[in-house]
Amino acid sequence: MSNKFSISRRTFLITSAGVLGAAVVGTGAMNYLSTVDVRARIVIIGAGAAGVCMAARLMRKIEHPDITVIDPAERQYYQPGFTFIASGIFQPDEVWKPQQACMPKGVKWVKEAVVALDPERQKVSTSGGKTIEYDFLVLTPGLQLNWDKIEGVTSGSLEEVARVGNAHSIYHFEGAQRIWPAIQTLVEKGGRGIYTDTYTKHKCGGAPKKICMLTEHLARKKGTRDNLQLDYFCSEKALYDVPHYTPRLLQIYEERGINLTVRHKVKSIDIGKREVCFQPYVVGEDGSSTDLPDLVCERYDLLSFVPPQSAPDFVRQSGLSWQEGKLAKDAWVEVDKETLIHRRYPNIVSFGDVAGIPTSKTSSAVRKQLPVAQDNLLAIMQGKEPTAKYNGYACCPIVTDYDHVLLAEFDYNKQPDISFPFSLLDMSREQWTAMMLKRHFLKPMFFYGMIPGLM
Ligand SMILES: Cc1cc2nc3c(=O)[nH]c(=O)nc-3n(C[C@H](O)[C@H](O)[C@H](O)COP(=O)(O)OP(=O)(O)OC[C@H]3O[C@@H](n4cnc5c(N)ncnc54)[C@H](O)[C@@H]3O)c2cc1C
Repeated sequence: MSNKFSISRRTFLITSAGVLGAAVVGTGAMNYLSTVDVRARIVIIGAGAAGVCMAARLMRKIEHPDITVIDPAERQYYQPGFTFIASGIFQPDEVWKPQQACMPKGVKWVKEAVVALDPERQKVSTSGGKTIEYDFLVLTPGLQLNWDKIEGVTSGSLEEVARVGNAHSIYHFEGAQRIWPAIQTLVEKGGRGIYTDTYTKHKCGGAPKKICMLTEHLARKKGTRDNLQLDYFCSEKALYDVPHYTPRLLQIYEERGINLTVRHKVKSIDIGKREVCFQPYVVGEDGSSTDLPDLVCERYDLLSFVPPQSAPDFVRQSGLSWQEGKLAKDAWVEVDKETLIHRRYPNIVSFGDVAGIPTSKTSSAVRKQLPVAQDNLLAIMQGKEPTAKYNGYACCPIVTDYDHVLLAEFDYNKQPDISFPFSLLDMSREQWTAMMLKRHFLKPMFFYGMIPGLM
């Protein structure tokens, strides 16, 4: 299939820079144009992609803001860059800034972790023993990586798991750095690379698949592909479930000789033996899954794995999570999927990774959730109906090799929701223009557009 429209590298870069600039200036100007005079105590829990950007937006919009941000982190990471550290495209220092530099002027920053949240009494307890009361709450603490749900791994043993077991996870900054030399060694010496994901909802479902395809391409570039066996073990029923993009992704795995096994959940890693064991399962006609009696254990030379993920423990204990349904088990927050307002506590807005909504957990989704969360928070603060609606937009830039990205943009219905200028192209296939966006524009968009609250 050919491109709907052919576009030169120069035209793409100029058009994209123009669109990006217009978006930043336009949205920023809209933000400045109207302010509201509402007086209330706002507490924001978690100052990652969702929380710190919301703080910046609210500081612009509210005339006399009273905003407390609670987050112990000293650094603001651009986490989508972890995959590029793991593949040698970015240097580690390119993907973070000191949190102090990202925190909007005028907010009160409490550098502590929230340990308890009482939505009835509208108060929060912190690791330093503080009690902080709120009138309105923005709940954006991201998600919790549950390393110890994999037998043989704990959060304290990750360095040993990497050193002894050559098992790595790009889901943390150190892991992304450690896997890059390990990938280079595999490509140079040959052997078996096993790549896996996890059975819970997780950030950027594309990330584990990307690092597998990047390893394969690196081996081709170095002329050593024949010395490598690459296997991808997928926890889900299928490699990807957005119909517009799945066929091409499956085709790429097949074309590149990456063996794909689905319905296998990582259960344990034996770092001494360099062996990973999976729990296989079958899915019945009614959609229910049943574990098969025997584990499947595989030896590897390099393992890329993903920790199971859930809402942070204090969220689970607060009673704000879904009480039933698929999102209850991992304690995702019970928000209305369109307004992003809590379904039982109308003075709480929650979005980003912690939110219990049926879309991908990505910062591109956060970018589209932000104006909705902001407008609806301001509406409820003024006693008005929250009318802004989020359509579930998420974007997963699936890096298929060092030059191309399959840019999956979709909504709650898993229908393509493609942004300009990509709507001019056939986005069911990987495009180099999308790699330009991923490599050159998205990080500056995050640090200089989203974080200052300009987009
Ligand atoms: C390997 C990888 C690749 C990714 N690739 C992409 C991609 O290509 N495209 C994309 O759009 N997205 C990608 N993402 C996902 C994206 O980074 C997240 O979806 C996004 O950061 C979510 O924002 P958030 O604010 O909800 O959570 P975070 O950005 O994780 O922020 C959560 C904040 O809450 C704080 N916090 C946690 N617990 C507490 C507590 N108890 N008290 C106070 N504060 C607390 C943390 O310190 C942190 O600052 C990727 C992520 C990873 C890990």
